[in-house]
Amino acid sequence: MAAYTFPLEILDIKLAVFSTVTVFFSSKLQITVPRTKICFTVSDALLLVAIIIFGWQTATILSFLTCLYGCFALKDKSNLTSPVSVSVGTMTVFAAGFSAKFIFVDPATDDLLKSCIVILLIAGIEFLLNSILFSLFYSQKHSRNFGLVWKNHYFNCLIMYFANAVIACLIINLMTLVDFNLLFAAVAIISVICIAYKSYVEHIKKIAAQAETAEHERAESEKLRAEQAEKHIEELEHYIAEQERSGQALRESKEKFRHAAFHDSLTDLPNRSYFSQEVKFMLEKTKIMPGFSFAVLFLDMNRFKNVNDSLGHSMGDRLIVNVAKRLKTIVRKGDMVARFSGDEFAILLNNIKDNEEVSRYAEMIQKKISTPFTISGKQIFTSVSIGIAVSISDYEDSQDILRDADIAMYKAKEKGESYMIFNPMMHSQTVKLLQLETDLRYAIAREEFCVFYQPIIDLTSMKLKGFEALVRWNHPDRGLVAPYEFIPVCEDTGMIIPMTIWILKTACLQVRKWQQANVEDRNLIISVNLSGKHFAQLDLVEQIWRVLSETDFNPQYLKLEITESAVMENAENAISTLKELKELGIQLSIDDFGTGYSSLSYLHRFPIDTLKIDRSFVNSMTEGSENGEFVQTIIMLAHTLGLGVIAEGIETINQLHQLRILDCEYGQGYLFSRPVPSDEIDKLLADQSAWKSFAQTPIEPVPQVSPEVPRLRLA
Ligand code: C2E
Ligand code: MG
Ligand code: MG
Repeated sequence: MAAYTFPLEILDIKLAVFSTVTVFFSSKLQITVPRTKICFTVSDALLLVAIIIFGWQTATILSFLTCLYGCFALKDKSNLTSPVSVSVGTMTVFAAGFSAKFIFVDPATDDLLKSCIVILLIAGIEFLLNSILFSLFYSQKHSRNFGLVWKNHYFNCLIMYFANAVIACLIINLMTLVDFNLLFAAVAIISVICIAYKSYVEHIKKIAAQAETAEHERAESEKLRAEQAEKHIEELEHYIAEQERSGQALRESKEKFRHAAFHDSLTDLPNRSYFSQEVKFMLEKTKIMPGFSFAVLFLDMNRFKNVNDSLGHSMGDRLIVNVAKRLKTIVRKGDMVARFSGDEFAILLNNIKDNEEVSRYAEMIQKKISTPFTISGKQIFTSVSIGIAVSISDYEDSQDILRDADIAMYKAKEKGESYMIFNPMMHSQTVKLLQLETDLRYAIAREEFCVFYQPIIDLTSMKLKGFEALVRWNHPDRGLVAPYEFIPVCEDTGMIIPMTIWILKTACLQVRKWQQANVEDRNLIISVNLSGKHFAQLDLVEQIWRVLSETDFNPQYLKLEITESAVMENAENAISTLKELKELGIQLSIDDFGTGYSSLSYLHRFPIDTLKIDRSFVNSMTEGSENGEFVQTIIMLAHTLGLGVIAEGIETINQLHQLRILDCEYGQGYLFSRPVPSDEIDKLLADQSAWKSFAQTPIEPVPQVSPEVPRLRLA
């Protein structure tokens, strides 16, 4: 309608400038009242001016264009610039302008006061229309009460309209004072400056916003970093705590390992390593403290094996624990008791005065340990052998003093003493023994053993009956070593078994050779000594059978000599072994008869062939002497049991005569021949006339011995 009724005659440059300023610049010039949504737009003021100066049509069209431009150009897409705003704005201006025209006929008037009143009225109409229309729209859209919407959101806008009206009044006032074109040019320039300023401010704001965003982002990342750092610290603290925990656990387990490494697990007493360290410390003390002396006591329980074997290992362990407890109660402050192994303990006696003090202490230990232990209701008796080493000697190493205490303990055991104090002699004996043991281990491999043969003579015919095989050790440094030196060591170490087998084999082969060489010698007998340890071997019979097979030796020419003590030790077992050997066809002889304790009840059950009278009896056999009586008794006993007799150790012709008178069947001794190597026997076999002359000697009658006299140790 405004466009239709627009009076074209008003079109001039003035309107063009006014329109340009209103549409393109003025709408950008807004002033927002702080903390409100109210803003003053220069365009609204100019539209009021337009109603007064150019009429309602121009104002309506300009309002429409301004709103439209605002819609497209302004970035603020608020309600006011939406299509609704365009329509409402345009309609308001139209209604206000039209109303002004209608009310005032020609609102344009030269009277400034009147113009101002008109402007105020138009602004009021605009406010009413605008606020009502917007309130209607808003209340409808959000289902709110119209009155409240108007009051809360739009009533305040009254000031804005009033301000616009005041601005419009000022503009009209200025237009009357200055040239219109100049005014609008100035307005345009100011507008351009304002716009430039505004865009500059916006640019600054944008930069500030960017900076703020960057700052915000930086703060965020800083915060994130701080959080991460905090988390990292937490993790680190956790890790450190973990480390500390595992360090603590490690320390504890180290401590446990240390304790385990230096203590015995059964008794919790210090072990050998701990004890050795303590002894080492004491040795150092003796060097810096003249007069300071200490002693090491080495304890070994006697017959502890019996406890284990008879009562079981757990009882054995409990006995050990109880002994340890008792020992702990005896040791003085500063002393130490340790368990070395099995039934071995050691005590370190600190700061001792003399050997007597140590001896008293050892006696006290013995007394304490000998008091019976009650374990699981059972009374167990035990005792200890104690070896003592005192630090008076110049000991350099802790192991030396321990070794000496050990040696002294073995000596005490050997001698059946309850304790012994070490002296240097013991050491040299032990060293010698150890050396002997070492040398013996190589003796078989190096073929250092050799067999000597001692002839056994038939005392009736004075003919050679056979030989006794006697071992010799051809030591590389010491020459021939006698059996008494090494046989006990061989028995202790078990070497006696391979050694005897070797002797048996050698002797069988040798005698077989002699048997085959001469018809007269085909019945030669070889006697081989069997040690008690070997005799107790379960497979003894098998071992001997194997040798006989390997050497193809006739068992009836082999005689095994077993000592009286060996067969009597376990008589029942001995009987069955002897029987088995007898079944092979082997002859059996009891060696060194008279030196042990024979039981007559057993003797007659042993399937033996001969008794061999020990040389100690024969050797000191003189006419009418006690030994002569012993020999006679043995011979009588043997004959009563149906056994033959061999007398060993015949050295004199007199002994020979007596034995012949006593009807002793066989004899051996230096009188006939010493034990000699096989090549000498070769010579002897070639000429056996050597001892035939002894047969010529007249046999003197020997006084009869009464049967009740024998003082032979017969059980
Ligand atoms: P034995 O079995 O009683 O041997 C007899 C010992 O008496 C031998 O000593 C022998 O040399 C010695 N003898 C013989 N006649 C006389 C004599 O008229 N006067 C003197 N004083 N001694 C005489 P040997 O050879 O020193 O043997 C000592 C012991 O060593 C043997 O006593 C025997 O128990 C053991 N022995 C020797 N050889 C062996 C062996 O091969 N095996 C085993 N297990 N023991 C052996
Ligand atoms: Mg013998
Ligand atoms: Mg003998």
